[in-house]
Amino acid sequence: MADEKQTVQCPVCHTEIEIGSQVAKLYGAVRAAPRAQSSYEGRDYFFCCKACKKKFDEEPKKYIKDKK
Ligand SMILES: [Zn+2]
Repeated sequence: MADEKQTVQCPVCHTEIEIGSQVAKLYGAVRAAPRAQSSYEGRDYFFCCKACKKKFDEEPKKYIKDKK
C-alpha cells in the first residue's frame, strides 16, 4: 500500500506542509495536519501557521499565483 503523502506549500512563506503522511497521522491526534486553512474562491489553501493565514486573508490576491 502506497503512502499517500501529500505536500502543499504555504502560499505566504512557501514552507512545505505535509498532509496525510505517516508523520501527520502520528501527530494527528494532537494536531490535525496544517495549522490553518482558508477558502478563497472555492479553493482551499493551507498555511503553516495562523500568522500566514491572517496575511492571506487580508490580501489573498497577493499570494495566489495562478491568475486568469
Ligand atoms: Zn507560512
